[in-house]
Amino acid sequence: MRWREVLPWISWWFVMAACYAATLTLCAGAPITPGILFQMTLANTFGIVALEQLLPGRNANLFRDRQSLNDMGHGVTFAFLGRPLATAGSFALAALIARHWSGAGNLWPTNTALLAQVAPAILVWALMDYALHRAMHTFAPLWWFHALHHDTPQLHLLKSGRLHVGEEALRYLCFPAVMVTLGTPPEVMLWVALWAVFSGNLQHSNLDQRFPDWMHYVLPTVQLHVIHHARERHLQDSNYSGNTPLWDIAFGTFRHPARNPVTRLGLEGAPVPPGFLAQLAYPFRALARSGAGDARQ
Ligand SMILES: [Zn+2]
Ligand SMILES: [Zn+2]
Repeated sequence: MRWREVLPWISWWFVMAACYAATLTLCAGAPITPGILFQMTLANTFGIVALEQLLPGRNANLFRDRQSLNDMGHGVTFAFLGRPLATAGSFALAALIARHWSGAGNLWPTNTALLAQVAPAILVWALMDYALHRAMHTFAPLWWFHALHHDTPQLHLLKSGRLHVGEEALRYLCFPAVMVTLGTPPEVMLWVALWAVFSGNLQHSNLDQRFPDWMHYVLPTVQLHVIHHARERHLQDSNYSGNTPLWDIAFGTFRHPARNPVTRLGLEGAPVPPGFLAQLAYPFRALARSGAGDARQ
């Protein structure tokens, strides 16, 4: 048996199984905590970086990418600044809604099994993410924030954190408020966040992962997300949901890898500057040059 041919078929399952087993071990029967989410984010990240070296997929390597330091800078900026501040604002927003609507916080089926709560919570989160992501590809002022994520000719693990702090602030200002208003327990939200980290990292990684054709309709595979990072606009405007392909299938934006070959990644004309601070300033400068009501060309 040739291991190099077999391993890509089990790599996704191996990473997921190992990371969920480690999470359950850390929980030791108690509810998951933000600390465990943080530890598992680091473990998943470093584990995939190591596996990318042992079982590389495409011609990409974070150690040879001159944008890797910037990618890390953006990841640290949104993780320690954008997300916490926006989440605090989102909880304040939820409190404001609860003050004016007595039904807030009582809509979630809290007395069902944990797994039966996590699955619909992932679908709700993914639906919001689909809507925001599609809006970012449609309206120019939102696209200028999102362009940074697409501004790369290669995909490896660090690209899952190449997100403008403004994009993440908008996401975390809106989504937690909806989940809290529905009454989703914090523990369920942490399991949703864990799925988003694990699947997001695997989708951007250069780890060789292969799936039977039908599996692309079920799992958010790396091949689906490579199509989203294609240079051609008609491919770019598809496969929006990083958490499940379900919403793309439902709303007609699903593109199957077998019928949509990708040759080049990134953006035409290199609109995003190479410097870290210039990248942070890019959407604001574009906004100053144009108007807030612009549609994306
Ligand atoms: Zn996108
Ligand atoms: Zn991406």
